Amino acid sequence: MINVTKTFLPTIERYQSYLNRAWEKVWLTNRGELTLELEQKIKEKYQINAIIITNNGTIPLQIALKLLGNQGEIITTPFSYVATTSAIIWENCKPVFVDIHPEYLSIDETKIEAAITPNTTAILATHVFGNPCEVEAIEKIAKKYNLSVIYDAAHCFGVTYKNNSIFNYGDVSTCSFHATKIFHTGEGGAMFCNDKDVYHKLYYSHNFGHNGPLDFYGLGINAKISELQSAMGLAVFDHLDHIFSERKKVVDFYMENLDFTSLSAMKIRENTEWNYSYFPVIFNSEEALLKVQQKLNEAEIFPRRYFYPSLNTIDFVKGETMPISESIASRILCLPLYVGLTSNEIELIVSILNKN
Ligand SMILES: *Cc1c(COP(=O)(O)O)cnc(C)c1O
Repeated sequence: MINVTKTFLPTIERYQSYLNRAWEKVWLTNRGELTLELEQKIKEKYQINAIIITNNGTIPLQIALKLLGNQGEIITTPFSYVATTSAIIWENCKPVFVDIHPEYLSIDETKIEAAITPNTTAILATHVFGNPCEVEAIEKIAKKYNLSVIYDAAHCFGVTYKNNSIFNYGDVSTCSFHATKIFHTGEGGAMFCNDKDVYHKLYYSHNFGHNGPLDFYGLGINAKISELQSAMGLAVFDHLDHIFSERKKVVDFYMENLDFTSLSAMKIRENTEWNYSYFPVIFNSEEALLKVQQKLNEAEIFPRRYFYPSLNTIDFVKGETMPISESIASRILCLPLYVGLTSNEIELIVSILNKN
């Protein structure tokens, strides 16, 4: 069986070598040495300004929205994983959707201004599939209207834009280290920011608001990661170069061998060093997608319809119609992409797609 992704696992011996340090110290959470080391390694590798590792990639969105959203209207993308929208609603803010760019698949920055009202407090956009939003245009709009910018960068581990980590953009940027993501800690995530005050608030918010054992800076929640998860992160981190280069090989093979006469690939934004996190293909119709999906399933190949449905159409969301996002969401399929996918398997996938 070939799934859309397969979790990268280090050897159990390597994982254990990191776990041993937690055993020696009898220290399993509360920002232990493994967590601090993982933060330091990520910061250094990608020259990131500030990072706080968390227990998943959703709670950082909620913390950022709690701090910067003020229960107002949040301009957001309808084409993302459900967590982007549900975090907004969970924090008693209102999602206001802006349609996406049909080739880059991220929020169409030229349509943002028309959606701003006196109640707008922030923009929450997703660098979907690791493809950066038009960050400079978004920053300009945010400055003009005094809005905060939060990026859901769940797919972006390793991505740089103009030679700068994509995590360094926005007031707050978040990532997911879930087992299905390109870099993982089993469950986990992170939040990033540039401003000292924002960092301080993010930091105390993720640890119950504590200012030492007896005092509190303010309201907080528990978003801390455990040392068991950070040990996995450190073990996976050792293999990052291999992970990126193996995934690049799969993507290159798809790009060179797929017949793109009735398919299209996502367009990667200029000046981007991409991470090969997903390989979406867009069909001419949903019917064509379903036909190919059926054929793939018969061969025990299970791609995923990331992201379907368009988030504005979900029952509990009830957003306005978003023609481009709804159309793309109905026609897009993510093909299998992971370390260890064999050339025979990729050839089989390509041949099934090319026959249709
Ligand atoms: C995976 C994902 C999340 C949620 O991350 P978790 O670590 O699973 O909580 C949020 N946004 C997007 C776009 C995602 O793909």
